[in-house]
Amino acid sequence: MSTETSPHLFTASADELKNKVILVTGAGDGIGRQAALSFAACGATVILLGRTVKKLEAVYDEIEAMSAPQAAIIPLDLNGATQQHYLDMTATIENQFGRLDGALLNAAHLGVLSQYVQISEDHWDQLMQVNVKSQFLLSQALLPLMAKSNHASLLFTSSSVGKQGRAYWGGYSVSKFAIEGMSQVIADEYDKTGLRSNCINPGATQTLMRATAYPGEDPQTLKTPLDIMPSYLYLMSDASIGITGQSINAQIK
Ligand code: NAP
Repeated sequence: MSTETSPHLFTASADELKNKVILVTGAGDGIGRQAALSFAACGATVILLGRTVKKLEAVYDEIEAMSAPQAAIIPLDLNGATQQHYLDMTATIENQFGRLDGALLNAAHLGVLSQYVQISEDHWDQLMQVNVKSQFLLSQALLPLMAKSNHASLLFTSSSVGKQGRAYWGGYSVSKFAIEGMSQVIADEYDKTGLRSNCINPGATQTLMRATAYPGEDPQTLKTPLDIMPSYLYLMSDASIGITGQSINAQIK
């Protein structure tokens, strides 16, 4: 299977992720919500992490309604969480489920798009806290547990502006470059193990974040979160064993 073209064409079977325990951050809305539903539909036990409990409960209920394995909810605001929160959370996952086979680190903060010279220090700090430091602390806490699983998949979320800087995307763009680097460092360190680390770039997708960034755009012209799921399912499934240190576009250009 070619890694350049196959992820978008991947067809997951109904038990593709059976017996896997997978954490999804930002699981209450947008791409994270759909990924949680799609992973559950393929048999995974999904741990829903996010900051708005009502949204997480709605996803939990949708998973219950499709008779998929019972999900779990972890309410956590990445903006305020400390290292101890991530360590405690990982211990809870280990106690409750015994393992973690996959983690989709999807939650992110867009912030305000502005000229570089107008970015405030507070704004910069919040972007780096949510989009970089929390991803570092979370992945650092999860890795020892994930490494115990056979063929665990750690999946970071990047962006086109994390590969090519773009005017007015300031701290968000810089934070996504950092995510690309974080994933590559981990992939290289774990290269001789069964654990893989990759980045996924969803591409323009019909979500609240996209509508905030492009208020004049007709959302109907965009792919939906469901449309881009083949790549997410591919990277979480055993079909992608051996794929590591890569940055994969969820959409065909
Ligand atoms: P979204 O619709 O805004 O959803 C983001 C999710 O992350 C929401 O559930 C949100 O929770 C959660 N979140 C945000 N800040 C959080 C925090 N401090 N603590 C915990 N959870 C937090 O965004 P999306 O478009 O699905 O984006 C998902 C990922 O794809 C992001 O990493 C984004 O950068 C990336 N991306 C998206 C696009 C696109 O076109 N949509 C393109 C390139 C990259 P609440 O619901 O409580 O706000």
